[in-house]
Amino acid sequence: MFAYALAVAEENASGGKIVTAPTCGSCGVLPAILYYLEESRDFSETRILRALATAGLFGNVVKQNASISGAEVGCQGEVGVACSMAAAAASQLFGGSPAQIEYAAEMGLEHHLGMTCDPVCGLVQVPCIERNAYAAARALDANLYSSFTDGIHLVSFDRVVEVMKQTGHDLPSLYKETGEGGLARDWAYTYPAR
Ligand code: SF4
Repeated sequence: MFAYALAVAEENASGGKIVTAPTCGSCGVLPAILYYLEESRDFSETRILRALATAGLFGNVVKQNASISGAEVGCQGEVGVACSMAAAAASQLFGGSPAQIEYAAEMGLEHHLGMTCDPVCGLVQVPCIERNAYAAARALDANLYSSFTDGIHLVSFDRVVEVMKQTGHDLPSLYKETGEGGLARDWAYTYPAR
């Protein structure tokens, strides 16, 4: 699964063809989950496509009610949302109820709240590529956790989307795709000649 996520993210980083899910920088998470499950669990293409549609619904709710732009809300809106979409898709594939699917999606986003966008050299490579793989693993974990419950939980998906939006607006611009803070800043100090 990690390899699939890295492959798609590297395809994006090298200027190849990818599908935004929800963005270019976070494009590896959902394909990694869907391809991995299709290969390892023999899910039919129809079921994979239905799970993709469910993931799209969650992504569109965020896009409509908050943002999926790293420049607006940081990486929580990109990789965080991708994780949420992938968690929803995985939950549906494993037979989750609507409440369990919503819970999986909520966890996928909740546990990325506050995540900054600080790409080294302003390129969508570090930390983005590895981050896609880790988010894919988290999405499967969110599905597993949700499947152990009846889907009833404290923080709703809609609420976490609201909080993500507010948190994103509260983040300093250094952490929103400017390449001036966090890891990007360290890199500039360590390798000033580059
Ligand atoms: S760190 Fe920034 S550029 Fe990289 S994936 Fe996240 S939002 Fe996109």
